[in-house]
Order: sequence, then C-alpha cells, then structure tokens
Amino acid sequence: MSTPADCLFCKIIAGEIPADIVAETELSVAFRDINPQAPTHVLVVPRLHQPDIGSLAAADPGSAVALLADVRAVARAEGFEDNYRLVFNTGADAQQTVFHCHAHVFAGREFGWPPG
Ligand code: AMP
Ligand code: ZN
Repeated sequence: MSTPADCLFCKIIAGEIPADIVAETELSVAFRDINPQAPTHVLVVPRLHQPDIGSLAAADPGSAVALLADVRAVARAEGFEDNYRLVFNTGADAQQTVFHCHAHVFAGREFGWPPG
C-alpha cells in the first residue's frame, strides 16, 4: 500500500507534482485526469491519504461525505448539473492503479452499462 511519502496524489496535493487543478476545498483537491476517458474527466481526491473510499469512510466519515459534495460541485462547475458518472475503482481487480482514494467524475458523453 502507498504511504504519503511515495504517493503520487499526495505529491499533487502538496504541489510537488504539477496537475491541472480545477477546484480545491479544505478537504479535497480536484484535477483533470492525465489520460481522460470522457470530454470531462476530473479526479476528486481527499487530502487525507486513505487507499480507497471504503477506508476513507471508515477513517473519517465527514471527509467521505464532503468528497461527494465536492464531486457534485465539480460536476456543476463543469456544466453538468446532475448528469455524470461517478466511479471509485477499489482494488486491483477493479483496475485501481493509484492507491490514494479518488473519485472519477466523467461527463460530456453517453456511457454504456454494464461497465466493462
Ligand atoms: P485508478 O485506475 O482508478 O486508480 O485511476 C488512476 C487515475 O489517475 C488514472 O485515470 C490515471 O490516468 C490518472 N493519473 C495518473 N497519473 C496522473 C497524473 N500525474 N495527473 C493526473 N492524473 C493522473
Ligand atoms: Zn496519498
């Protein structure tokens, strides 16, 4: 598991690695995914290092709830009121590759179901 010292998203939050930041709150930072899978693809990341959303919810429920409100604000700021896909990949089998909790916010195209 990543620790803050070797965590990519902790480094982005700390400003040590550049990112296209679109929003910041006391508890989260939102930036554009470097490999976008939709016209809008933003990652909303809690400042607290936890490996996934379940761990965040267990460790700091308020931060997990705030993350959802921040997701909504980002989607609205991008011009998508209530029309976006929210994804939390959790674990390697679900294709999680960065083990610092992050919400993928996708918008701007139609999405298929079920997910691949
Ligand atoms: P996941 O596979 O759910 O762990 O998502 C990790 C996401 O981080 C992927 O969509 C990557 O494209 C994205 N990513 C990796 N490195 C960067 C970076 N330096 N800046 C922005 N997004 C990144
Ligand atoms: Zn981290």
